[in-house]
Amino acid sequence: MHLTWGPEEVAFREELGAFLDEHVPPEFERGFDYAGEGGEVGDDGQLDADNIIPDWARRWQATLFDHGWMIPAYPPELGGRNATLVQTLVYLEELARRRVLRSFHYPGYGIVSPSLLEFGNEEQKKLVPAAVRGDTIWCIGMSEPNAGSDLAGLQTRATRDGDRFIVNGQKVWTSYAMVAQKCFVYVRTDADVPKHKGISLLIVDMDTPGIEVRPLRHLSRSAGFAEVFFTDVEVPAENIVGEVNDGWRITQGSLAHERAGLWVEGVCRLDASVLSLIDVAQRRGLDQDAGVRRDIATMYEQASSLRALGYKGFASFAQGSSAPEHSYMKMATSEMGKAACEYGMQLQGAYGPVMDPERGEENGRWVNYFFMSFANTIAGGSSEIQRNIIAQRVLGLPRS
Ligand SMILES: Cc1cc2nc3c(=O)[nH]c(=O)nc-3n(C[C@H](O)[C@H](O)[C@H](O)COP(=O)(O)OP(=O)(O)OC[C@H]3O[C@@H](n4cnc5c(N)ncnc54)[C@H](O)[C@@H]3O)c2cc1C
Repeated sequence: MHLTWGPEEVAFREELGAFLDEHVPPEFERGFDYAGEGGEVGDDGQLDADNIIPDWARRWQATLFDHGWMIPAYPPELGGRNATLVQTLVYLEELARRRVLRSFHYPGYGIVSPSLLEFGNEEQKKLVPAAVRGDTIWCIGMSEPNAGSDLAGLQTRATRDGDRFIVNGQKVWTSYAMVAQKCFVYVRTDADVPKHKGISLLIVDMDTPGIEVRPLRHLSRSAGFAEVFFTDVEVPAENIVGEVNDGWRITQGSLAHERAGLWVEGVCRLDASVLSLIDVAQRRGLDQDAGVRRDIATMYEQASSLRALGYKGFASFAQGSSAPEHSYMKMATSEMGKAACEYGMQLQGAYGPVMDPERGEENGRWVNYFFMSFANTIAGGSSEIQRNIIAQRVLGLPRS
């Protein structure tokens, strides 16, 4: 089998390449995966929120939008150019090859926008351009202390009171909550029906009185996410997305949007990691070492197999079928990514696992990747949950 791109995709890649040559910010030379570091929380518990989404990264996202390169499949007014699905794939691969991220905050363009376009009313759809351009920062309030994998068990309550809802409860692991202007908050609106049937989705302004955000520190010391507490928070009734108690259907849409994109990003991240491993092996003079060459070649081989499987899933997805391959891809790319980061740390030698910028080569870049790589095996559905899905939908085993 010989896979190759058609002339339209080649021309598309060239046009994109010319744009990137001219506009990519120099900060990306520091390396792929700069995002996700979050602001640092000092020992005093105070957050340095400035570097969660740096100004240059905000300008970059806006530049992509203004030139129709933020989400190529969208129409120009939403920051795209009506690209085909295959061109979208070319786009994602090209960004990854150059180790360039399009945005430092995915909820707005990756989850909120497609969900509002699918389920929102005309007024709510007007929020989409600013979400895609990055002018509005969004967070997603799904997980709670007792509702993560079992999302349907969420307990944050919204009670109707005239023309508003009163929200009480707690969310956790809410990425970007400390810098977000708006939140997609999944709430329980009926506690007397089966748990999937009493959930609704509200758009909540993060500066509404009664909301308290407490940053949580990652293993890497950065604070990418937070706990969010809601105490008698008043939300206008028109901020509901879809119908009352129809939120579960929307969660499935939101998660499908998230997962459909995750495999491409997972494979691209893996490709980028293999390239970075080659860089570090060369810098450390290990590129002639037979063992190192074999290990990196094996990772390349695995990443290539995953990409081929991804194309197969992508073909089903493009034809409108659900693609259980995405679950496998999500699990395999995140687990392999973790292994690649650990290997990068090993290649760096004695100071590989050191976070101290004075001692660690590349300012502790690989150890930071390694710590953050655990997150990819949890966010968007943990590896165990993906294995359950594979067991059930791919292997036909009974539901656990
Ligand atoms: C970096 C990061 C960013 C995140 N951002 C957000 C965000 O913006 N908004 C948001 O709402 N959430 C966010 N999350 C939360 C994420 O969705 C949850 O962490 C995830 O769904 C798992 O839920 P949990 O943490 O409650 O773990 P639990 O569901 O309590 O799981 C604990 C362990 O048990 C395992 N387990 C659970 N159920 C089963 C089962 N049925 N079979 C086998 N094993 C099982 C899990 O795999 C896991 O290992 C984020 C998480 C991370 C790591």
